[in-house]
Amino acid sequence: MDDASGRGRRSPWELQAAPPPESWDDWTELDASAWPERVERHFSCIPTICFNCEAACGLLAFVDKSSGEIAKFEGNPVHSGSRGRTCAKGPATLNQIRDPERILAPMKRSGPRGSGRFQPVSWGQALEEIGGRVRRALEEDRHDEIVYHVGRPGEDHFMQRLLQSWGVDGHNSHTNVCSASARLGYALWFGADRPSPDYARTKFMLLLSAHLETGHYFNPHAQRIMSAKEAGARLAVVDTRLSNTASHADHWIATWPGTESALLLGVARELLRSGRFDARFVRRWVNWREFLERRAPERPSTFESFVEALTETYAAYTPEFVAEECKVPYGTVPRLADEIAAAAPHFSSHLWRNAASGHLGGWQVARALMLLHVLTGSVGTEGGLNPNAWDKFVPKPSESPQAGSRWNERIWPREYPLSHYEMSFLLPHLLERQGSRIDVYFSRVYNPVWTNPDGCSWIEMLEDEQRIGCHVALTPIWSETAQWADYVLPMGLAPERHDLMSQETHAGTWIGFRQPVLREFQRRRGGTVGLTRDSNPGDVWEEAEFWIALTWKIDPDGALGMRRFYESKKSPGTPVSIDEYFADIFDNAVPGLPEAARAEGLDPLSYMRRYGAFDVPYAGQRRYEDDPASGEPGVELEDGSRKAGFGTPSRRLELYSATMEEWGFGEHATPGYIRSQVHWRELDLAAGERVLLPTFRLPTLIHTRSGNAKWLQEISHTNPLWVHPDDAKKLGLTNGQLARVSTRIGHFVVRVWVTEGIHPGVVGCSHHVGRWRLAREIGGERLSTALVDIVRENGTFLFRQKEPVGPFDSADPDTRRIWWKETGVNQNLTFPVQPDPISGMHCWHQKVRVQPAREDDRYGDVFVDTKRSREVFSEWLRMTRPAPGPGGLRRPLWLKRPLRPADDAFRTGRDLTTIKR
Ligand code: SF4
Repeated sequence: MDDASGRGRRSPWELQAAPPPESWDDWTELDASAWPERVERHFSCIPTICFNCEAACGLLAFVDKSSGEIAKFEGNPVHSGSRGRTCAKGPATLNQIRDPERILAPMKRSGPRGSGRFQPVSWGQALEEIGGRVRRALEEDRHDEIVYHVGRPGEDHFMQRLLQSWGVDGHNSHTNVCSASARLGYALWFGADRPSPDYARTKFMLLLSAHLETGHYFNPHAQRIMSAKEAGARLAVVDTRLSNTASHADHWIATWPGTESALLLGVARELLRSGRFDARFVRRWVNWREFLERRAPERPSTFESFVEALTETYAAYTPEFVAEECKVPYGTVPRLADEIAAAAPHFSSHLWRNAASGHLGGWQVARALMLLHVLTGSVGTEGGLNPNAWDKFVPKPSESPQAGSRWNERIWPREYPLSHYEMSFLLPHLLERQGSRIDVYFSRVYNPVWTNPDGCSWIEMLEDEQRIGCHVALTPIWSETAQWADYVLPMGLAPERHDLMSQETHAGTWIGFRQPVLREFQRRRGGTVGLTRDSNPGDVWEEAEFWIALTWKIDPDGALGMRRFYESKKSPGTPVSIDEYFADIFDNAVPGLPEAARAEGLDPLSYMRRYGAFDVPYAGQRRYEDDPASGEPGVELEDGSRKAGFGTPSRRLELYSATMEEWGFGEHATPGYIRSQVHWRELDLAAGERVLLPTFRLPTLIHTRSGNAKWLQEISHTNPLWVHPDDAKKLGLTNGQLARVSTRIGHFVVRVWVTEGIHPGVVGCSHHVGRWRLAREIGGERLSTALVDIVRENGTFLFRQKEPVGPFDSADPDTRRIWWKETGVNQNLTFPVQPDPISGMHCWHQKVRVQPAREDDRYGDVFVDTKRSREVFSEWLRMTRPAPGPGGLRRPLWLKRPLRPADDAFRTGRDLTTIKR
């Protein structure tokens, strides 16, 4: 193939290769739309970071040098996490920035909340009003009435530092509807709250997730999983549903939802019974003496006796028991044990949401899975599994505020002392039962009305100005939640903002720099660059600059002690610029970066603007064997050496958790199995009861973030109910028919898809679609939302779609070509809150009744009774064992919090608030 660019492409395959960095200032391609003429287009290639999930893949924006517009996005080849590749959602960033329906200017409510009436407001007025309100709350010592609720952080450290500088304990994340269970399970073992598998060098992978299509961190992980498979590694997938990932597996193990830890403990039993475990590693690193002392004090304190005791602990998990309990074939356990034993220590695994996030005691799935790694010595090994903190690097500015002294019980209630983390999805219930309020509630890239269980309770809370004084929605697009905001402030999409990110994508460490592409294009052309807002479309701002400006409004003279953290050192008395803020980090906090920049004649900030990513020197996988860092105690091992160890109180891998015992959960101090709220024994199958599996994503969508991407919406826009053929027959359902699915607080009406890809007795429905809006022109993307009516009566809500998705006129001719109508069903509205009493995770799986739809049911109907939701919450609340714990603590000091206050705040200096039961 000849090469119009003259850069030596010799075969069609080379078209797939990303442009090399040396050509990024002037990259040439032929204009496909001009064919058969050969018209050259010249591009400036500018790196940034994708913001469509948390993987932080590197993107390369191609800016057409003649029009100054972004023409497309591809992968950034120098980003070592994503290595030049993206998933479908990366390139679809183009749809998002060109979305004809995006919000281009700040808005303020002009009617009652939820009325859909808004008017434009200037940034200046919005800052003045919001800043004044926050300032008043701080001056009146109402710090706990300021809450920032984030769905997708998309950055590291900036917001935590900012909230710390405000002196508020107001960070609220979405973790408890996502990953709280897995986090607790991992934290109890090694002090880090998530795993980082070394897929690339593994020989056997066990995924309790759909990682090849949607998981954390999807594209970087998926490509390494596939590389490992190409090199001969084998893959087993535990999933009740035949996911795309399971379809690529050597073994698809479809467990009954909620029984996964029984399966894993069966494998542990098999490894122990047959002696196929790494005795040297276990003896050296596991707190087996503590286990013996607490669990079998009558036995001699020898390793051999420990092995006997442990084998007895799991003796009941025979292949027969597992087959019956988990509803899997008898041979599953021996086969898995054989695969793991043969591969160890090159054995990797992953669990994040999926199995852990659905049921009571889901956190024990992570405990049981880690037990297999510990037994096989595949922790911190090549091809094994690392604690995530070792594979992520978060550099910080040279000066940071002190940790706060407050503890906000609105988000950290005493009933959940071990939760991971804030009890975010309970907010309406907590405010009501505590009789408390929030004065300024910032929702940021978060859509709790649609995403959280029991969204109607969120609507009730957001409507009540006694509970929420002011709601500020920071969002690039309309969302269900933003409809109940006082201010809707448009924030930049991926190529319109600065953020610094790192993720544990593999055994290595990197940082990635998200930057506003057109701002950088302007800079490369020699133009002056000011605020990012000046180069963004419309009046869209970036968050970092917004928060700095807001901080200056709250503390204009510095009297509150906040302003100084956002004041320029170069020009005192003025706000720090984004360039100065990040230059400080890159100059001082990233090892190796100044040298790498110097080698290219650049300063570190320019280096990051040019390449978008940097590989931070890696400290290795076997860090627990290092000497303790200065000031750290480390752990003394049996050979007398002192090593760094792990992040647990004992510095060992904690098979036995003293923390669990001390906080009143002694019966769960070791990996175990807790029967769930959706156990098969709980179901009356003959009466139409089934388990609803509502947790899975669709590979080309990402929660509420992709409703503005036309390519993605065309691929995926509905969420049919997966029903096994045997169940379809028993329930009187046929393919394409409407079914009514009833939960404990309501019901929804959905179309049926009969498939063998789901376990009999279980039905599945993706949570990724089912978007809606209340007003014709605003409140949601017409591309992806149905117009609905809500009929309300005495705490009940009936949502009915009155206008489906269809073609409409806009600046984009493609919106006239929309051919689909159904947009799915917002099933989450019908779920009561079900907080796990230990991890705090919302237990997503539901016991439901499935029936053919009634005559007056319509596709997309959702009915909810919020009174019933309160009753269900009371039931789950009764299972909690509230703080204080030992020493009058609200929470163990060693357990992580995203925004950690000082130790004193953990101590209960005054009476704790108790939630009304
Ligand atoms: S996995 Fe896809 S959506 Fe996520 S950051 Fe990477 S390209 Fe973007």
